[in-house]
Amino acid sequence: MKSKLTNRQAEDDLGSHENTNLSRRGFMVTTALAAAGAGAAGLLAPSPAEGASGIEKTKNLGQGPFPAEGMALYSSQGPHKLMKFQRRALGPKDVAIKLQYCGVCHSDIHHGREHWRKENFPLITGHELAGVVVAVGSSVSKFKVGSRVGVGCMVNSCRHCGPCQSGMEQYCENGNVLTYGSKDRDGSMTQGGYSTFNVVDEDFVIDIPDVFDLAHAGPMMCAGITVYSPLRRWSVGPGKKVGVVGLGGLGHMATKIAAAMGAEVTVLTTSSAKAEDARRFGAKTVIVNAQGADLSKYRRSLDFILDTVPYQHDLERLIPLLKMDSTLCVVGVGKTTEPHQIGPFSLLRDRTSFASSQIGGIRETQELVGFCALHGIRPEITKIPMSGIDGAWTKVVEKEARYRFVIDMANA
Ligand code: NAP
Ligand code: ZN
Ligand code: ZN
Repeated sequence: MKSKLTNRQAEDDLGSHENTNLSRRGFMVTTALAAAGAGAAGLLAPSPAEGASGIEKTKNLGQGPFPAEGMALYSSQGPHKLMKFQRRALGPKDVAIKLQYCGVCHSDIHHGREHWRKENFPLITGHELAGVVVAVGSSVSKFKVGSRVGVGCMVNSCRHCGPCQSGMEQYCENGNVLTYGSKDRDGSMTQGGYSTFNVVDEDFVIDIPDVFDLAHAGPMMCAGITVYSPLRRWSVGPGKKVGVVGLGGLGHMATKIAAAMGAEVTVLTTSSAKAEDARRFGAKTVIVNAQGADLSKYRRSLDFILDTVPYQHDLERLIPLLKMDSTLCVVGVGKTTEPHQIGPFSLLRDRTSFASSQIGGIRETQELVGFCALHGIRPEITKIPMSGIDGAWTKVVEKEARYRFVIDMANA
């Protein structure tokens, strides 16, 4: 959360970069939408059933700007409402993506409800995008029309700082551009994936192999990579006992991925009804972490804990479960007004560490997709129509997602 605020701060400092990318606008598109087949044709000519919310025909669709529509919040209290807007014209390295699906991450709710910072409204959230490329800029080399792709939480970064150079754009020292609510290089505000269309620099686009249903691709772009990155960073594998706290979007992916890495997984859930699912995802042990439950028999049993809980909760219950020299990594990001507390002796007792981690780099996200393909890992999803977003948000907050809602753009 702090890092996201830092990103915003850094973005504000990036005004001097804006001109470079404005100049991209005049470039020719090498591949026209006309070549995009049925998907693009549907985009150009909405069916009568789409009615007033259908995408209007516009000239120049081949190179953009592209008409799009999405579900926007107009205030932190508000329900989502349809918003029509334009995606930028293609720059040389841009790909135009007809979005088919977008996962619903708890971070969307934190942003939309202003748990972390003041937002600029109207705001379209969503950073688990999946779709098909329908046009490419003149210098695009990694994708072509028809490529199946995903986009996660970032759509640009400085490219030259140390973290960017080492493929960790999420820690860009000059501020990366987030997929929504972020100042883009041209000064405009980015809008996210609860929408029909996007234009993204190819360096921030992930290739989705054919083995995946596109509906499963989105949740890998944030939930998947956010847990994969720390599991790798803290060398989770055979012989390691790993705790996963919170069985939601991130937690269920963490359980599957850690188990596939060869670790012995313990899930800590506040929802006893999820115990069976946790085992099906690969957990050997399930602890129902109800308030006041006695966890003493699990003391010093875990080599690593990945905590995905999205609100303030009692970390003092979790730290004693770690063996000496082990790490509690909290990837859940609560409200800035309700920070976590760790007592002065809590880490000292077993020389344990408290850590955090932010999504993952582009290269690493592509690696995660390969890992999921290799191990047959898929998120557990529930498809919803665009009009179902508000209801889905309520269910997510009530811990009722099983385990990721995914918006189906074809279903208004
Ligand atoms: P989610 O689907 O809502 O899952 C969170 C789970 O945590 C719930 O299913 C529930 O599991 C548990 N939980 C929820 N509220 C709780 C509460 N008040 N007290 C205790 N447990 C609670 O959310 P998500 O999409 O996985 O996201 C989880 C968190 O990660 C969010 O804060 C999100 O913003 C953050 N996030 C961080 C990054 C990063 O880069 N670090 C990236 C993506 C998301 P049980 O029912 O099993 O208890
Ligand atoms: Zn997310
Ligand atoms: Zn950078």
